[in-house]
Amino acid sequence: MKVLLIGLCAFITAVGTVAYAAIDQESSVNKKVVILMGPPGSGKGTQAKKISEKLGIPHISTGDLFRENLSKGTPLGLKVKEYIESGNLVPDEIVVDMLIDRVSSDDCRDGYLLDGFPRSIPQAEALGKELGDNIDLVVINLEVPDDIVVKRIEGRMSCKDCGAIFNKYFTPPQKENICDNCSGELNQRSDDNAKVVGERLKVYHNQTAPVEKFYSAKGVVKTVDGQQSPGAVFNDLMKLFN
Ligand code: ADP
Ligand code: ZN
Repeated sequence: MKVLLIGLCAFITAVGTVAYAAIDQESSVNKKVVILMGPPGSGKGTQAKKISEKLGIPHISTGDLFRENLSKGTPLGLKVKEYIESGNLVPDEIVVDMLIDRVSSDDCRDGYLLDGFPRSIPQAEALGKELGDNIDLVVINLEVPDDIVVKRIEGRMSCKDCGAIFNKYFTPPQKENICDNCSGELNQRSDDNAKVVGERLKVYHNQTAPVEKFYSAKGVVKTVDGQQSPGAVFNDLMKLFN
């Protein structure tokens, strides 16, 4: 009798383990990871917010995570300040640690949208190691020429309360320096000035453009014309997910 009971327990445990492994594998197969690439000022942030809402996956922006740490004056913020304000990349180890920590939280279980990561080949390799093979990966390349990017960045302002983005040349707020949505004050990012923009573009062409080639070789890159109006860009983006 006792032997029979032990045998039955072992059987139930084995069945349970196999079923659990099957469920676990199924959920990781369905994990959707979207990487939004493009030069600074290509509209990644604006589009990322809308895509993540539509697909129901969290929007993870390494730039926003750094800015949050900068404004709170955390140790991480202090460490990355000089890189950001000079338009350079934050060292890979720092970004990768922060990113892996963020995507390990529960809300990222079914997938997430990355905005501003990976920005170098070592970052892309670290992400690949974290993800493994069982994912549905889409890499979107928002194309915008350098001269347009410069103007967009110099005119960009964002609300310090709700994060809404305006542009004093293209999409100005109704009242100068005041957010249309929440009446918060509009700020210009400390790295959004003519001097730093040139450096950010140089870094983009030297270090981030090769990441696009890295994913092109895997056949997962879709290119969208980022020079259109924000609404038209969003329409094109949504066609990729039908
Ligand atoms: P952009 O408008 O240039 O796309 P982000 O808001 O994405 O700006 O990033 C702002 C700054 O934060 C970058 O110029 C860089 O210094 C730092 N940063 C953000 N993401 C990364 C990353 N993946 N690797 C290294 N540095 C990063
Ligand atoms: Zn606002």
